[in-house]
Amino acid sequence: MQMVDLKGQYAKIKNEVDEAIKQVVDSCYFINGPIVAEFEKNLSEFLDVRHTIGCANGTDALQIALMALDLEAGDEVIVPSFTYVATAEVIGLLNLKPVLIDASLENYNVNADLIRPFITEKTQAIVPVHLFGQTCDMEGIMKLADEHNIYVVEDNAQAIGASYTFSDGSIKKAGTIGHIATTSFFPAKNLGCFGDGGAIFTNDDELGRKIKMIANHGQSKRYYHDIIGVNSRLDSIQAAVLNVKLKYLNEYADARLAAADYYDTQLQNVEGLITPKRNSFSNHVFHQYTLRVTNGQRDELVAYLKEHGIPTGIYYPVPLYEQKAYSSYVEPGFSLPITYQLCKEVFSLPMHTELNHEIQDTIITAVKSFFN
Ligand SMILES: *Cc1c(COP(=O)(O)O)cnc(C)c1O
Repeated sequence: MQMVDLKGQYAKIKNEVDEAIKQVVDSCYFINGPIVAEFEKNLSEFLDVRHTIGCANGTDALQIALMALDLEAGDEVIVPSFTYVATAEVIGLLNLKPVLIDASLENYNVNADLIRPFITEKTQAIVPVHLFGQTCDMEGIMKLADEHNIYVVEDNAQAIGASYTFSDGSIKKAGTIGHIATTSFFPAKNLGCFGDGGAIFTNDDELGRKIKMIANHGQSKRYYHDIIGVNSRLDSIQAAVLNVKLKYLNEYADARLAAADYYDTQLQNVEGLITPKRNSFSNHVFHQYTLRVTNGQRDELVAYLKEHGIPTGIYYPVPLYEQKAYSSYVEPGFSLPITYQLCKEVFSLPMHTELNHEIQDTIITAVKSFFN
């Protein structure tokens, strides 16, 4: 058994994907081939966003997004402490200051109330992360950002395809609400390629133009470099794979949701276990199915499941503020109570598009037998 069944997913679309890859190989147009532009256009249409700019990975996407904002060394960027390291890493790399904040126990995400106390004169941007597959409460975050004239960069590496519903009933896709958004096409993400890949999104034409330049050595036209950029490209083979898989993204989300529903019905009454809460304002595309163990036995459960052949993941075991590389950004003894609690309590069960009741029953039986 595995956390993610990439082989099973590939088997179902093998002919189509192999043919798309072969076309790239036959053309030898490996970098910036027409398929990259075609995929960017298709993804823009899928999300309903004006600009999609492919790049080399989700971490680069975050870096390029922040570079486009022209921030100054020492400017503060508010970021969750309960996230993958990449979100904060690029902030430090650009000599900006990551301001690590707490998460909600309900949905593991940041929200306007958690962000507000950390806004200072130096705050220039917020990077909300749509963790595990559902969006942060973006209406509140955008309102707060507007009031303080702060940029919002959505880290949408885990919730591509999810939708956010505003209080007036209007709906937007995750990654189209902030000033800029980013995603990752790492193979295990909901829209994954066959290597590394990422993308940046914006509805702002000026930012879109700038992001495109930064991702390509800061050039406005070939050999004319207006700003310092990076070399970060989505290659043609990855774009070809993604262009096929994008057609199935809604189906994939349905399969994940069905698997989550089944886990929910079987596990929601297990004492000591809390199944993932669903937001009213966002649907859930279940990048991860992440539960909390409230009886203090998370590590014992994970070890027990491993013995029984059930893989699990702990996303994330250590708060960013406790990581050595980030210690200089916080006072000694700094702690965020919910993040601390989540790092001790969470674990994730296998979640992918190829789950069925038979596989899930094996998992569920093992989990239940631990608690009985
Ligand atoms: C995966 C991930 C990234 C980084 O993406 P890469 O393509 O691996 O560089 C950034 N943020 C979050 C929340 C992620 O899950």
